[in-house]
Amino acid sequence: MFDALTKLVSFKRCRTIAYHPETNGIIKLWHRFLKIVLMCHGEAQQMDTLPIVLLGLRTCFTKDLCTSVAELVYGTSLKIPCVFFFSEEMSSDPRIFIEPIPHDTKMNVIYKIKCNDCDATYVGQTKRKLITRVNEHRNHIRRNTSKSVITDHRLDHNHEFDWNNVDILDCKSFYHKRLISETLYITTQSNGLNLKTDTDGLDRSYADILDKLININLT
Ligand SMILES: [Zn+2]
Repeated sequence: MFDALTKLVSFKRCRTIAYHPETNGIIKLWHRFLKIVLMCHGEAQQMDTLPIVLLGLRTCFTKDLCTSVAELVYGTSLKIPCVFFFSEEMSSDPRIFIEPIPHDTKMNVIYKIKCNDCDATYVGQTKRKLITRVNEHRNHIRRNTSKSVITDHRLDHNHEFDWNNVDILDCKSFYHKRLISETLYITTQSNGLNLKTDTDGLDRSYADILDKLININLT
C-alpha cells in the first residue's frame, strides 16, 4: 500500500537506520517542528491547514542558511497571505505587488554613458546586467588593459564619466534586435565616442529616417 502511495505522489522512499542523528537528524527535527506548528492550529483538519503551514515554514528565515527556502528556490521572498491585508485602503494597481528591478541590474539593454566634463557620449549594448558591463568599462580605464574609445577619452582628456547615471535607452532580448537598436542610438548621438565601424552595418536607406530622428531630438 505504501509503495502504491509513493507512486501516486511521485516520491522515492529511502530507508535509514532506526536512530542515527548524523544521517537522519535534520529531517526528524524538521518533522518535529512541522508537527508543533500543525498542533498550534488546534482542532482543525490537519490536511486543510498543511498548505498554509508549509508556506509559512518555507518563507521563514533560516539562521544557518541566512535566507529562507523560498528565496533559495525563487530568488526572491514570497508574498504570504497576510501581506495582502492592509489596514488602509489598498490600491487597485496590481503593480504594487511587483518589486521593480533595480536600474543597474537590468539585462539585455542598450545604454548610454555620458561624460561629466563635455557633451561626449558612448552607446553600447549588453546581454548581461548593466552594472557588470559598466564595471567592466571602469576596470579597463583603471588598469588601462583594453584599448577602447571610453578609455582613450578618459586618459587623453582627463575627463570623468557619469558612472552613476548611465541611461538605459532600450531593452531587447534578441541579440540582433539589440544590435539594430544600438546602431540607431549610436547614429543619433550629437557627439558620440563610438567608432564609425559601429554603424557600418547600417544600410544607407536608413539615412533619411535617422536624419529626421536626429532633428526631432535636437528640436
Ligand atoms: Zn569628455
